[in-house]
This record gives sequence, C-alpha cells and structure tokens, in this order.
Amino acid sequence: MSDKSKDILRIEELRSVLRENSRRYYVDNNPVISDFEYDSLMRELEELEARYPHLATPDSPTRKVGSDLETQGMGENAEAGVRTDFVQRAHRYPMLSLSNTYSISEIEEFAARADKALGKGFSYCVELKFDGTAICLTYRNGELYRALTRGDGVQGDDVTRNAKMIAGIPRRLHGDYPAEFEIRGEILMPYKDFERLNAEREEAGEIPFANPRNAASGSLKLLDPSEVAHRGLCCTLYHIPAQSVTFPTHDEALSKASSWGLPVSDKRKICSDISEIKEYIDYWDKERRFLPYATDGIVIKINELEAQRTLGYTSKSPRWAVAFKFKAEEVCTRLNSIDYQVGRTGAVTPVANLEPVLLSGTVVKRATLNNGDQMALLDIRVGDYVFVEKGGEIIPKITGVDFSKRAAGLVPPVFPEVCPDCGTPLQKQEGEARCFCPNNLTCPQQIKGRILNFMSRKAMNIIGGKSMVDQLVNRGLVKGPADLYSLSKYELMSLDGWQERSAERLLASLAESRQVGFERVLFALGIPFVGETTAKALARHFRSIDKLMEVGREELEEVSDVGAVIAPSVVEFLSSEQHRDEISRLRAFGLRFEISQESGLLSSALEGKTIVISGNFSVSRDQIKEMIALHGGKNSGSLSARTSFLLAGDKPGPEKMRKCAQLQIPVLDEAAFRAMLPAVEEAMEPAPAQTVTELSLF
Ligand code: NAD
Repeated sequence: MSDKSKDILRIEELRSVLRENSRRYYVDNNPVISDFEYDSLMRELEELEARYPHLATPDSPTRKVGSDLETQGMGENAEAGVRTDFVQRAHRYPMLSLSNTYSISEIEEFAARADKALGKGFSYCVELKFDGTAICLTYRNGELYRALTRGDGVQGDDVTRNAKMIAGIPRRLHGDYPAEFEIRGEILMPYKDFERLNAEREEAGEIPFANPRNAASGSLKLLDPSEVAHRGLCCTLYHIPAQSVTFPTHDEALSKASSWGLPVSDKRKICSDISEIKEYIDYWDKERRFLPYATDGIVIKINELEAQRTLGYTSKSPRWAVAFKFKAEEVCTRLNSIDYQVGRTGAVTPVANLEPVLLSGTVVKRATLNNGDQMALLDIRVGDYVFVEKGGEIIPKITGVDFSKRAAGLVPPVFPEVCPDCGTPLQKQEGEARCFCPNNLTCPQQIKGRILNFMSRKAMNIIGGKSMVDQLVNRGLVKGPADLYSLSKYELMSLDGWQERSAERLLASLAESRQVGFERVLFALGIPFVGETTAKALARHFRSIDKLMEVGREELEEVSDVGAVIAPSVVEFLSSEQHRDEISRLRAFGLRFEISQESGLLSSALEGKTIVISGNFSVSRDQIKEMIALHGGKNSGSLSARTSFLLAGDKPGPEKMRKCAQLQIPVLDEAAFRAMLPAVEEAMEPAPAQTVTELSLF
C-alpha cells in the first residue's frame, strides 16, 4: 500500500476514533482515554488534513465543536436519572471551542501573530481554564431568562430550570445591567462534592464519574432540579459575547458583570507581553493544586473587544484566544502492596495500594496496573517509588518506576496462579493479556459483581449497595440474582444493622423491579460486552429471550453495533446451562423476558431503522425522537452508511442534505414518515408551535 493510501485510511480511522471518544466524553460523560491522548490524535488528524487539503470535510472533528447533544439510542450515559429530552434552542452567537496547545512555543507564536495583525496598543487578559461544562446564561430585564449548554455550538439544551438550582447563579441582578445580554462560563463541581458524590455512587454499586468535569456535566442534565441543588455545583463566568455589549475591553465587561452580582473569576490578570503571560502560567501551574475545583490550563485572550472583532473566528474557535493546557499532573509515591481483584466476569486485575498522595485535587490511594504483562513491562516491585498520573480518567495510572530510589532486595511480584477469592486455578486465553477465574458459578467476588450490576439503577434499579450485597453473599443467602427474589423479611432482618423497615423497603423495591422492561432485564443479566444500548437494540430486534436463545452469530450480527465480539459473547452466555437456569428462575419470579405493548413499544414499524432527523416538525424534535423509539427505530445524530433515511422537516440542515446526496441516503418528509407508522400514532397530535417564535427573538 502506498504512503498516500495509508494516510487516507489513517484519516478515516482518526475521524472515527475521535468521534467515538467525543461521544463518550460529551454525551456519556464517561471518557476512556486521557485528554492528552485525545488531543494528540486530534493533532495528528490536523496535520494529515493539512497535508491533504482536498480530503478535509466540513464535518471533520477538526472543524466541529464536540457536541454534548444526546442522540437517542446512542451511548451509555454514566448517570441514571439524566434527561435526554431537553428542548434544544439555537444560540444567538455560536458557542465555540478554543484552540489549544501543550507547548509554550505555540503560545509565543500566538502572541507573535497577534503583534503582526494588531500592531501595538493591545493587551492580553489571561485567565484560568476552568474544567467544567460550558453554560450560556441570558438575562432579560435583570432576571435569569435562559440557560443553555454548549450543545453542538449552534444549539444547546435548555437547562434553565436546573441552572436556577445552582448556588451562585443569581436569578436577579442589581445595578445598571443592560436590558438583555448573554454571559458565558463554566459549571463546576468542587473536588469535595465530587468525592462525596462518587463515594455515594460506589456504595450504591453505580459507576463513579471519571472526573469533576464529567460529574458537573452529568449533574446539569439531571431529571430532577431538586437533585441538582444537592450536587454542590458552582459557576464561574468568563465571557460576554462582544456583540452583545459595548465595553472597550473584555476585562471591563467582566468587572461590570461582577458589579451586577454575577460570579466572575477574580483570578484573571492583564498582561502586556509574553513574558508576563509565562509568569502567570508558571504561577498557576503550581498554585492550581490548592484550588477547590479543577482547572486544566490557562486561557489567553486579546483584551480589547475591537481587536477581537478584527481577528474574528474559525469554524471551531476564536482567533483572538488560545488555551495553554497543563499536562496531566504526575506525582511520585511508594507502592505499598498489590491486590488482585476479581471482577464480575472473572477477570483478575492487579491494583496497586499506594502511600496516599494528593493528585489533581483528590487523594489517591490506589491505581490500576491493568494486567501481569503491564506489571512486567513496568518492572515494578512492592516498595518501589512509582510515578502516578491522572489524566481525565477515573482510575489513576502508574506510568513508571523511579529506579534511582529502588531499595536493595526488592523482588518482582508474582501474579497469582489461583483465584485470590475462591482458589480456582486461573486461566489465560491466547491473545488475552488478562487472567480469568473460570469459576463463575461459585466465586463469591464474581457473584457480588453480578448482583451489583443486576441491581444497578440502569438495570433493575433495586435499592441497596455494596455492603448489603457483601452481607447477603457472605451469609450464603444469595448465590445469583434470582435468589434476591426469594429473600424473606425474616432473613433480611437477621442481617447486621437491618430492621423491619429496611427489609420492607428492599422487598418493595424487588417487587417493583418486576415491572422493568425486557431491554433493561437483558442488560441486567450482565452478558459480557452487552451494555445498555446493545441490550436495547437486541431486545427490540428479537423481542423475546426465547428468540434470542434460538439465534446464532449471523442473525445477531444483523443488529447494528453487534459484531465479531458481541455476537459470540451473547451466544456463549445464553447457551450456558447455568445462565439458562438463572433466566428460567427469574422468569418464574415474574421478570419480563419479552417486549410487550406495556413495556413501551407501540409497534415494530421502524425496527432495524437508524434515522437521522433535521429541521422543524409539526411536533417538537423530542416528540419525533420519541415516536422513532416507540416504533422500534433508532435515532442517530450523524449520517453514515448505516443510516436508513434522513427525516427532514422544514428547513433541514444544508450540510446534512448534501451528505445524504453524497451517500445516497433517502430523505423522507414528515408526512411520508407518519405514513410508515400504524394508525395508533394518530394519537400524537401536533403540539402548539413553541420554539419558532422564541427563536425569532434572537
Ligand atoms: P476545551 O475544553 O479544550 O476548551 C474550550 C472550553 O474551555 C470552552 O468551551 C469553555 O467551556 C472552557 N473554558 C474554561 N475556562 C475558560 C475561560 N476562562 N475562557 C474561555 N473558555 C473557558 O475545548 P472543548 O471543545 O470543550 O473540549 C475539547 C477538549 O476536550 C479536547 O481538547 C480534549 O482535551 C477534551 N476531550 C477529551 C476527550 C477524551 O476522550 N478524553 C474527548 C473529547 C474531548
């Protein structure tokens, strides 16, 4: 293959990897790679696109703001109780990203470009780069009128009700505020609230948030505004779009906003040249460790609004600002011991117990070592001083050993040959770096993991957490999820700290869980690689567990997103005697193993269809998305070869229409779409027009 062909393939690969990670980061709030890794991939794509300008497309991740708008049926948001049906509203002025760099020399280049374009007589306003989720507030006649997330930069989710619950966002201003203006900033979750929230989530058997940014973003989109009030979110504001005010400088606009009662950061500084900027960067690179909230860099902005207008914007970011991002913080601490943890699938993961150390605002005591191969690669030994890094993901990583500090006599750790929990000899499959405990029938750690997964909010939503499950399994009362349904009040009351009321609450929660639809029951079974979205797709496609047990790999692979990894995993899981037994017991306890009318679907008219929507409809876009789901279809945010059709309302996006023509994707209007649905849909009357008049205000 020629170098050019390799580059072309790499461009495609990078775009797809970046899109996938962008969705995990912005929509699911569940990133799996560090920001540094993401930014390095983005850099590689930018360089390749610069080399092959004819291959650059307007929808490339290099040209678009990462979107947090939910696309129904996609992704697995780390948060239960999160709304995905916010009204989306257009931004009056686009909400863009910032160009960013990890290199001081690129900040020097930015300053040199500004000098060249603006000559003398301008200054910089240098600020902290707050690591939260962006918000745009509109005040009308001094009242908080609207709060929108950044969304895709063009339109955002209307989170006004939730924003009103955040301490520090004033509902009413005082002083000489303009009749109407926008102000933008960041919603943050302070470290102490983040730690409290994650401790609660872990206790409840839920996935903890990766970092305070993701926690802030997930919390802002909660269903229940009163729950938002308990999350401890705060807000700091840093930008009034130059078009909406008439101040000479950015700094003066912010000082004025502060005088109206708005929470503006007091950490900003006016700098006249690059050396002052560097001083500010050096100062905050150290001092930020003592701030109560996360920051991930410094933002350097041209201060004069007229100069900002002269420099203008690219499609993705302003030319008058740049972010200098701090590298992930790294600390050195002692490795005290290594634990070998057994997960619910039997995988054994080595976990390092560290001398507690402060890292990115939180105390780190443990870090993953991934697997035996990784331990050998690091040449790590208990007693070593190790480098620990936390770069956006939840679990800190050990990146290396400080060999200069290695004491004499330390010996390499020996990976256990038997399961540390049940003593069964471990197995390692070919091509697999991890070791597994094959005893999934009676290994207590695997049982506990499976039960916690089964009970979790996104699965059966049964109350209770880790300590309860520990007690139930250790006492031999529960060996699998089905045993939960045969627990008696008497048995529960015999547990430490349990009283009649707590036992009754658990029994009521178990009874309620019998109403949970098949999609979630399927997810709750814990089939390896089958997450919430895949379970939903499988349940909607095959409609019952009986059908699902009958089909083979090929039929499974007809379902979108099911491929060479998921299909064999489903077949293997459902053909195991043990799992079939568990399923029939759960069925006997009244759990739902088929899709029924009551479980939500009105018909299967759109089964297997992936539909992208664009434009305005006679009902809200959320109602259209709901219709698609109710008839078994899948709504997706972006067009691809898998798209069945574009549902185009009034004024569909020209870019989407162009792409449809290019990929030969059919375009249906609302009438044609409605004609596909059975008569039952007639019940969904057009809602009174809502957004159109409101949009015209902008
Ligand atoms: P960004 O976070 O790099 O910078 C832009 C944002 O900074 C603005 O939208 C604003 O919300 C915020 N900001 C904070 N303080 C500010 C201030 N004082 N002035 C102006 N803005 C301020 O850009 P982004 O578009 O939000 O996100 C892109 C970045 O997110 C990537 O560079 C990457 O680091 C990270 N990301 C990571 C992953 C991952 O998988 N780890 C995936 C997608 C994106």
